Amino acid sequence: MDHIGRLQRLQQALHRHRLDCLLVTHLPNIRYLCGFTGSASALLLTRTRSVFFTDGRYTAQARAEVQGARIVIARKAPLVAASEWLTANGKNLGSKGPWRVGIEGEHLTVAGRSRLAGILPSKFRLCEAPALVEQARMVKDADEVERIRAAVVLGASLFDQALRTIRPGVSEAEVAAEMEYAARRGGAEGMSFPTIIAPQKRSALPHGRASETAIPSEGFVVCDFGVILAGYCSDMTRTVYVGRPTGEAHRLYQAVREAQQAAVEAVMPEVSVAEVDRAARKLLQKQGLGKYFTHSTGHGVGLEIHEAPRVAAGQVEVLQPGMVITIEPGVYIPGKWGVRIEDMVVVTERGCEVLTPTSKELIAV
Ligand code: ZN
Ligand code: ZN
Repeated sequence: MDHIGRLQRLQQALHRHRLDCLLVTHLPNIRYLCGFTGSASALLLTRTRSVFFTDGRYTAQARAEVQGARIVIARKAPLVAASEWLTANGKNLGSKGPWRVGIEGEHLTVAGRSRLAGILPSKFRLCEAPALVEQARMVKDADEVERIRAAVVLGASLFDQALRTIRPGVSEAEVAAEMEYAARRGGAEGMSFPTIIAPQKRSALPHGRASETAIPSEGFVVCDFGVILAGYCSDMTRTVYVGRPTGEAHRLYQAVREAQQAAVEAVMPEVSVAEVDRAARKLLQKQGLGKYFTHSTGHGVGLEIHEAPRVAAGQVEVLQPGMVITIEPGVYIPGKWGVRIEDMVVVTERGCEVLTPTSKELIAV
């Protein structure tokens, strides 16, 4: 992974945003920038230096993982150590001050912010930085796409496990357990979110986590799941049918499938995420199902399961090669049933490549 390049590009961006330094506290952002995978750290970037702070539990791990930043093993909380370092090194920031210290407003807690404000002398001004690291993370480099590809393949293999296990009378949790066991056996660090196995009426809940409920003898089962492999997440949904699908079930499934296909076909560089959302929505609206598509069409995936960009109406982000997003329209008819189909795609120079290898035919079990 090109950690040094990532750090340098971010340092160059500081000037453009009139920041003297940026204090990164969101762990996935720290991992992205310097490679550290532990759970307590802070990363401080000035325009010329990168300093990484962690505590004594992570001495060996930091030395093995961190690239491109000086490592400080602190006796205090990393955030406190970072603010003390800044206090001592303010004069090296390249101007007389006051110095603008960027913080990650979406991630730093109110308590963390007041601790910082309590330590830093008045010459330092805390200001909410734009989501610079998240913006950089949207476009994946070749190494990242390879890791995501591997995560998607492992994730997709769990669907076979689901098909073997889903039967009337088997609990949702048991289906999830078999899938999650296979994931760990296959090398996953964990699941990228709690596995969703939502049969029959519960399939109308977009996020019906697997419960102790037994799978009924008939109806749709929404299966939404993903793994984390080498740090990167996968995410996919398939909806299967227990028993013999009725004509109505076929029509509903087909409508969602066509909407999903239309959105996949809309993905290409220079197209806005709102247009991709519209492509799926338009098809469902034509079938009178628009009001039952109650969430956005997709989201970015990478080190986190939900990351930028959001593929939704009103979003202005424009797709670029290297972005990895999900395409997952769904229709949810309350009290009755629901269908969702979700693939991960990577934006290419001419369009997109669907990473999820699994068939989208309606499968009856
Ligand atoms: Zn999903
Ligand atoms: Zn998703």
